[in-house]
Amino acid sequence: MSSGSGVVVVGAGQAAVQLAESLRDAGFDGPVTLVGDEPRLPYQRPPLSKDYLAGTLSSAELALRGERFYVDQGVELHAGRRAVHLDRGRRRLTLDDGTELSYGRLVLATGARPRPLPIPGGRLDGVVNLRTIADAEELRLRLRTARDVVVIGAGFIGLEFAAVCRTAGPNPVVLDIAEQVMGRAVSAPTAAHFAEQHQRLDTRLLLGRAPAELVGKRGRVTGVRLADGETLPADTVVAGIGVLPNVELAEAAGLETAGGIAVDEYLGTSDPAISAIGDCAAFPDPRGTGRIRLESVQNAADQARCLAAALTGTPRPYTALPWFWSCQGDLRLQIAGLSTGHDRTVVRGEPDKGFSVFCFRDGTLIAVESVNRAPDHMAARRLLAAGVPLTPEDVAARGFSLRAHLRGARV
Ligand code: FAD
Ligand code: NAP
Repeated sequence: MSSGSGVVVVGAGQAAVQLAESLRDAGFDGPVTLVGDEPRLPYQRPPLSKDYLAGTLSSAELALRGERFYVDQGVELHAGRRAVHLDRGRRRLTLDDGTELSYGRLVLATGARPRPLPIPGGRLDGVVNLRTIADAEELRLRLRTARDVVVIGAGFIGLEFAAVCRTAGPNPVVLDIAEQVMGRAVSAPTAAHFAEQHQRLDTRLLLGRAPAELVGKRGRVTGVRLADGETLPADTVVAGIGVLPNVELAEAAGLETAGGIAVDEYLGTSDPAISAIGDCAAFPDPRGTGRIRLESVQNAADQARCLAAALTGTPRPYTALPWFWSCQGDLRLQIAGLSTGHDRTVVRGEPDKGFSVFCFRDGTLIAVESVNRAPDHMAARRLLAAGVPLTPEDVAARGFSLRAHLRGARV
């Protein structure tokens, strides 16, 4: 049994590695141990649906940190090991090979996993998720010979995959039960622009259509039957219908969960010795909308930094402004803030040159979505973080410039 009163982290992804680095940067010199069930150096996921899938980034470039980082920083990495039991009374974590780790502070950074398709046929050969490097490698291979690709889910994964598929394989068909692409993440004007651009490049987009069954022959997928009876031929089906947070270890140990591992504004769980960060953590929205869970690199990294500060003596509530990005062919989408619940949008710019959609709720700016307009995104992040007032009328006024507005506010 390895022992110590250090920090043990379950999960070795974006949040875990940032936590280890930020703890060391803040001068923490106790033991830091990461336990991750993937048998490799921790890596970044965003390129899996972008450059890595397209074959323009190597697996070495995917690693979050090189091997030396773990040695030089004294971070013990248990790669390929799953944490299977948590004994909170004895402060012990058991791994799948029987190793027991004792902890002073346990951090759950277990991430999320693809939501399984709720229809028959999901286990047929040729039906693939896109969450891990192994998934991306399988898809890269399949795209070399695929003839008919169907993507279920027109969210971030589905549309990013579709953009790469057009260049590395056949034009895919993308279907979603929702009427709007990226429905959970963006406003109607942004969604409409992305839908148009994908269709312009000959991607067949079927919105408001539900898959009913994956059909196959001799264990291999051959098609997707829709609820309205149409069957789409398919030798490859990519499922991107959202994720489920990995809460099982926490739940089995009796920690409170609420659509994720429930944490307070300091990222502490219902056990004072345990925190949770990243995709798995449901935290109080500083904007007062209740508990939320975010699935992004910014959230994982900023929560890790916030927790490292708390564990090294400077606790502060987690209030970072959420931001996201997505690359789909020539389209670069950057989002500052959360547009959930917006009741008005104002668009500045032009579809073919780049534009931003300003999202308001009750007259208050809550998010800005920028398409091929990076300077707006950077300005919006500063503006929203500082709470600089901006009305829909300001934005709609002739000659409005976001950067000039920011300069005027002296932020
Ligand atoms: P993860 O990175 O999922 O890491 C958690 C790790 O814990 C996993 O390796 C998991 O297997 C492991 N684990 C779980 N349970 C256990 C256990 N019991 N024992 C041991 N190990 C365990 N976000 C963006 O902001 N921009 C993007 O462009 C973007 N693109 C993406 C593209 C893809 C294809 C995917 C899948 C995600 C993308 N994301 C993007 C989301 C982003 O990658 C995640 O939000 C981020 O990785 C979350 O980090 P995390 O550390 O919380 O979880
Ligand atoms: P997502 O963005 O939530 O999109 C899933 C889509 O699938 C939604 O439009 C959803 O519609 C739809 N859907 C749900 N059930 C369906 C069904 N049975 N049939 C057809 N469509 C269905 O999730 P994702 O694209 O799978 O991404 C997974 C994770 O990766 C997320 O954590 C995401 O944040 C992350 N990711 C992020 C980026 C980025 O930030 N650029 C890129 C890739 C991946 P409803 O909303 O109506 O349910």
